[in-house]
Amino acid sequence: MASGSGSETTDLASIDNHWKFPCNHDAAEPPATAYDRITTIKVSEGSTSREFLVYRGVLCFHSELFKRAFNSNFKEGDLDVYEVTDYKIVTFEMFYNWINTGIPTIGLKQMDKYYQALDLYIFTDFYTIPSLKNCAIEAHMCVYLGKRATDLTSIKAIYERTPENSPLRKLLVDIRVDWYSFKTLKTFVAGWGFDFAADIIEASRARSVVPGVGSGDMTRDQWTKRMRGDFCTRYHDHTVLESVDQKDVDADSQMETD
Ligand SMILES: [Zn+2]
Repeated sequence: MASGSGSETTDLASIDNHWKFPCNHDAAEPPATAYDRITTIKVSEGSTSREFLVYRGVLCFHSELFKRAFNSNFKEGDLDVYEVTDYKIVTFEMFYNWINTGIPTIGLKQMDKYYQALDLYIFTDFYTIPSLKNCAIEAHMCVYLGKRATDLTSIKAIYERTPENSPLRKLLVDIRVDWYSFKTLKTFVAGWGFDFAADIIEASRARSVVPGVGSGDMTRDQWTKRMRGDFCTRYHDHTVLESVDQKDVDADSQMETD
């Protein structure tokens, strides 16, 4: 059967096949005590809003920023409504689905464009949700594997919205350095912008490779296999998660002694 080039079905099938990446860390589960009291999160986007009901302890377990917000702004007995205004409803819905199912379910259909995965990445970066941030960067890789290209608009958006040394920037650069060959560098660089072009040159220099020569004898399947094997080490963020866990442990042991 002929596979239509870039057809939506083919892309999503590829995303499904590549969704889970090997990770060297066990997924942290909230303790039973996290399922304590329900909090309402009201997400507003322009004149539209939607309320999500979540366990406050689960929210705090996954997100350092939510934990700080609840600990500083809410007292026992206060009305638990927390407003989120700077993010899209669909982005929070991905977080909500992930909290409840372990997968940002809506993402498999929604994340067929980079900016939707980018919105989730930015949200998780701001709210310090490292486990979901790792899913978001995997989604970028999945979209790339599905579409076999990154568009220039998304590169610009990523560079506008992520800090220097972001794992997402590193992924974009590595894909270009590993895989792309270009004969007309001037044309490419004009679309990339200075920072992305500079990062590609830096990464190529660090690896002693010439930018734009392509992947040599490596097949795409070999490259994909290598990327999947190294993905956790190269792009996952586990540092923050471990420190959050430790604080939880400390807080739990303090509560038990009270
Ligand atoms: Zn990992």
